[in-house]
Amino acid sequence: MNPTAPMAPSFLIVAIDGGAAAGKSTTARALSSQFNLLHVDTGSYYRAVTHELLRQGVPSDDTAAIAHAASGLALGTRVQGHRAQIEIGGHGVDEAALRGPAVNAAVSHFAAVPAVRSALLAYQRDQARIAREHGFAGLVMEGRDIGTVIFPDADFRFFLHADPAERARRRAAEGQQDSIAERDRLDSTRKASPLQCPPGATGLDSTHLTLEEVVARVSAPIAARLAANT
Ligand code: C5P
Repeated sequence: MNPTAPMAPSFLIVAIDGGAAAGKSTTARALSSQFNLLHVDTGSYYRAVTHELLRQGVPSDDTAAIAHAASGLALGTRVQGHRAQIEIGGHGVDEAALRGPAVNAAVSHFAAVPAVRSALLAYQRDQARIAREHGFAGLVMEGRDIGTVIFPDADFRFFLHADPAERARRRAAEGQQDSIAERDRLDSTRKASPLQCPPGATGLDSTHLTLEEVVARVSAPIAARLAANT
């Protein structure tokens, strides 16, 4: 935690949604240290559940088997620095495995299954309690349905987007093999909690912005609100 960060008068919730490689994680990480917020990357939660279901051999097109396996997962949380990390059955999941091609290819299929989303719904909302217990001033949660479903009443809701070519370039620069256009298509067209800009959220096109500029634009209204409240 950063003891010099400004303290919010009450618990602050910041929701950041957007497609793959839109700049959500960098922005959320920066906000977490600037404002002393717990950083919750819900994409990594869907990835961890996907990794576990693949490990159990659950086929990504067998909805009944997915529902059965998802409802039996024992989910826990470990806080490391500003970051919340999911544990399944008392174990964390290796970050490299979460970002590997097998999970990249399967995650949007599992994430479209309502039983997987409901297995994670209460768990994600409960991250606010964990943030409070650890003394954070609030939480910044990134994903696809945070401002629409998980925290529709968040203090701040942002929706980041960028041209597909620029997003593909960012992923390639990270050395990742990831068909982000296909994931975005699946995520935006599914029936359960599709990726969409939450009504009333602040949209930001990051195509021609550096990540520093994106962070500056997102943090400015939060800093202004906190300054007005002190
Ligand atoms: O953010 P990231 O690209 O790591 O997310 C991986 C996948 O997890 C997304 O493509 C999406 O299918 C799923 N996801 C989701 N809802 C969220 C966060 C992620 O469906 N809130």
